[in-house]
Amino acid sequence: MNIKTLDTVDVRGKRVLLRCDLNVPLKDGVITDDGRIKASLPTIKYLLAQGASVVITAHLGRPKGERRPELSLAPVAKRLSELLGESVEFSSEIFGSKLSGSGVTLLENIRYEAAETSKDEVERLVLAKELATYADIFVSDGFGAVHRKHASVYDVAKLLPHAAGYLVAAEVDVLKKLTQSPERPYGVALGGSKVSDKIGVISNLLEKVDTIAIGGGMLFTFLAAKGLQIGKSLVENDLIPTVIELMERAEELGVNFLLPTDIVVAPEFSADARPTIVGADAIPEDQMGLDIGPASAIAFATAIGECKTVFWNGPMGVFEFPNFANGTKVLAEALTKVSGISVVGGGDSAAAVRKLGFADTDFGYISTGGGASLEYLEGKELPGLIVLQ
Ligand code: ADP
Ligand code: MG
Repeated sequence: MNIKTLDTVDVRGKRVLLRCDLNVPLKDGVITDDGRIKASLPTIKYLLAQGASVVITAHLGRPKGERRPELSLAPVAKRLSELLGESVEFSSEIFGSKLSGSGVTLLENIRYEAAETSKDEVERLVLAKELATYADIFVSDGFGAVHRKHASVYDVAKLLPHAAGYLVAAEVDVLKKLTQSPERPYGVALGGSKVSDKIGVISNLLEKVDTIAIGGGMLFTFLAAKGLQIGKSLVENDLIPTVIELMERAEELGVNFLLPTDIVVAPEFSADARPTIVGADAIPEDQMGLDIGPASAIAFATAIGECKTVFWNGPMGVFEFPNFANGTKVLAEALTKVSGISVVGGGDSAAAVRKLGFADTDFGYISTGGGASLEYLEGKELPGLIVLQ
């Protein structure tokens, strides 16, 4: 699939509507990881250098059509302005916004409008038409949202001349490298909280990879599927049959399918819960698994570190609590030493490696998209990319 890139449209002196992914993690109104804002800068700077005026539309969290003040993009406008070194006007209105017609304007959280995410095409079109009145050209750079058929991602692109921004183009380039004849061995590490988020990608990648390592909260559904006791750990019981099938297919295909052999458990989900290391087949009934154990971390790091192509999505444990961050840290360390291409995907995974003190440049590529990268790797067609062809 080839998408239209920025150099195919003339943006000089034009009004550009720019979709960005500014969905940053916030804690008590403070941005805890501004990676997605930084990743949006190259396109914004380019547009400004071309003398374009830029109206940015973006979302934050899931306000579901309601004006929830804690999900306002106002703090993001402030941080964007600091990083850009230019003033950024913030428009709290989405409909009928009075734009000054120059510089950069950020519109309030587009998901305050229920139409943004509506399944009803006509509803979305009303919002897309409003957005289209703000611009001559649409530039799509919110990679983290391109798997969504939303008004500001999909419908608006049909109403205006359009192109992909630099971030979307870069993300797609990397994903192409992972999908079109990747150098072998190809290893994938998957973690995070839910198996349901990752079933599709595991299933699709089984045919393509040499090694898969499973950690995070989702590993316990696999252990349960093997008939092991998992105590109070996270589990999705309804997925056990699917997971059994996946493990059988992995075996048929000769994929090196790694599950941890030791687990860090604790009596409760909290930062000061006392950690204990146990065998994966000896999780006490009153404890929950919050990280892969140290022996497993080394085994995963060794197997993944030997690969020439690596994709990693989802923390190996509850990295937010230092006592349960070791697995994620050891794996991240191994990725920094991969001699081929290493890609870290997912909002929490990106935040994790930064929180653990790694630099973005330590990795081949840190993707801004979680769901979008996974769906691409699943082989799905992404509406926000299709529309840019
Ligand atoms: P990403 O955003 O990178 O795609 P996910 O959203 O799938 O990652 O998962 C991230 C979350 O998974 C983190 O907040 C982490 O605390 C959680 N997690 C990892 N391991 C466990 C575990 N053993 N139990 C509960 N939650 C876990
Ligand atoms: Mg996440």
